[in-house]
Amino acid sequence: MQFTRLRLQGFKSFVDPTELVIRDGLTGVVGPNGCGKSNLLEALRWVMGENRAKAMRGDGMEDVIFAGTASRPARNSASVDLVIDNTDRLAPATFNHSDSLEISRRITRDIGSAYTLNGKNVRARDVQMLFADASTGAHSPALVRQGQISELINAKPKARRRILEEAAGISGLYQRRHEAELKLNGAEQNLARVEDVLEGLE
Ligand code: ATP
Repeated sequence: MQFTRLRLQGFKSFVDPTELVIRDGLTGVVGPNGCGKSNLLEALRWVMGENRAKAMRGDGMEDVIFAGTASRPARNSASVDLVIDNTDRLAPATFNHSDSLEISRRITRDIGSAYTLNGKNVRARDVQMLFADASTGAHSPALVRQGQISELINAKPKARRRILEEAAGISGLYQRRHEAELKLNGAEQNLARVEDVLEGLE
């Protein structure tokens, strides 16, 4: 899965529209302390469906919206678009006719986040699954945030296993199993209720 473009607007320190073209091979981002290098990685994680504000170094998800400076007012919304090369056809069937995929996430104060995939509204889960099935995503070990290496060294075996599962591309299957189990529980409860009603009628 090759990322080709990243666009940000109103996201953390990237208040003005900013577009990065990601070419084949190694890409380096250099700059002085505090210029926004980590914000770029966070933008990637965010557009892939990150839902933990803490992982974005914030208290709430709205903290990703440009908060204003002495000379510029705060913004009301933020957006990140990620363009992916889809020539290897990893996208879900509905979107798989296209050679490139554009995933967008927008957050508006007091409203929350909305996602689109090639311009069509999708759920956070759809975006998370798309990346999980391609062995990447917001929790991918390929995205190393500050302090993560020491966290890994100190991690318990279960947490380490989760990292291996992400890398093996099976975390999407676990999510689907969990959802199937929840549905099964719901169905069993409904069945029990029907049996109670039937008993009451007898
Ligand atoms: P270092 O090299 O020190 O790790 P960095 O280049 O990775 O720095 P970041 O941590 O990405 O820099 O960016 C930090 C900057 O982003 C700070 O100046 C901070 O004020 C700014 N910033 C973070 N969130 C927001 C926000 N919501 N609104 C405006 N600016 C923000």
